[in-house]
Amino acid sequence: MLLLKNADLFTPAPAGRADILIAGGRIERVEAGLAIPERYCDVVDASSLVAVPGFIDAHVHITGGGGEGGYATRTPELMLSDAVRGGVTTIVGCLGTDGVTRSPASLLAKARGLDAEGISTFIYTGDYAVPTRTITGGIERDLLLIDKVIGVGEVALADHRSTQPTFDEIARIASEARRGGILSGKAGLVNVHMGDGRRGLSLLRRILDETEIPPAQFLPTHVNRNPWLFEEGIAYAKAGGLVDFTTSTVPASLEEGEVKCSRALRLMLEAGVDAAQITFTSDGQGSLPVFDAAGRLVRLDVGRVTSLFAEVRDAVADEGVPLETALSVVTANPARALKLAGKGQIAAGADADLVLLDRRSLAIRGVLARGRWLMREGDVIVKGTFE
Ligand code: ZN
Repeated sequence: MLLLKNADLFTPAPAGRADILIAGGRIERVEAGLAIPERYCDVVDASSLVAVPGFIDAHVHITGGGGEGGYATRTPELMLSDAVRGGVTTIVGCLGTDGVTRSPASLLAKARGLDAEGISTFIYTGDYAVPTRTITGGIERDLLLIDKVIGVGEVALADHRSTQPTFDEIARIASEARRGGILSGKAGLVNVHMGDGRRGLSLLRRILDETEIPPAQFLPTHVNRNPWLFEEGIAYAKAGGLVDFTTSTVPASLEEGEVKCSRALRLMLEAGVDAAQITFTSDGQGSLPVFDAAGRLVRLDVGRVTSLFAEVRDAVADEGVPLETALSVVTANPARALKLAGKGQIAAGADADLVLLDRRSLAIRGVLARGRWLMREGDVIVKGTFE
């Protein structure tokens, strides 16, 4: 057993000072002044730390992504320490543009590997393309038969790299995901990659208007990628939709009009959107093109999982968003949208996924995943198999 004493708690709601007792990978009790003899548990003084739920990153190319500049531009796989450094204890892996040389079967294997190494993982079946390439022959079957499959995606819309799916095709995908989700007790979410195309969210809006599929079935991502999609995202969220912002970026993209995540959060809250409908994801291991002043591709960067909490911190420090609200977009909100029981919260019975932050700088000082220390006193102490 492990007892964290006197931490400043954000569950993510502010909960004051309390002790957290951890046993068997779960949180047993959360209350002030827990007195348990040291012979029964490891006692850690957490009075200089803020304890928050482990972060959920629901869009990571864990097997690598990219490849859009040729074979040499395929990005590498995620390593465990990439997640630990960013305080991420739950990941949803996905494929992107390339669904030929990368497959949902290898995604599943990689997710199982990361799970064995110490964090919790899930996957979306499919990739950009429609019809969806699955593991068992169908979206509904994957959801029902494979524990780690919690949805489908990232299906590309409004993008030159999409397969230009029709209204009927997207409605069919969502209906299969919905049935598979209902029958398996999972979210059955459709993670939608939004491109720069001017059609924007129109297809999703039509599906919500003309079918019985509820808004919670879709999680459109990259909604902060340009000003017009962001504006449309505000209206979409006000109509009940979920919106996801991508934290990995490069300066050139921001100069071209991408709305920085931290700012996007503040602007959406000011526009009257309920914070509960907003999530951040990192797009980790995705490729990020870097261009010179003449617009020539000079190199490719790789999206980082560590950008997830960096944007949460910027939202607090630069945009004045309350810590509990900023935390919710990487904890309680994705846990709810993705129906991840025991994740994204600090409460008795929940998984012991915790991040410990420095009180002043909010730097990540400790990470616990299912009750096991992965980072302690600022050092990553558990590495992946080949690190
Ligand atoms: Zn994408």
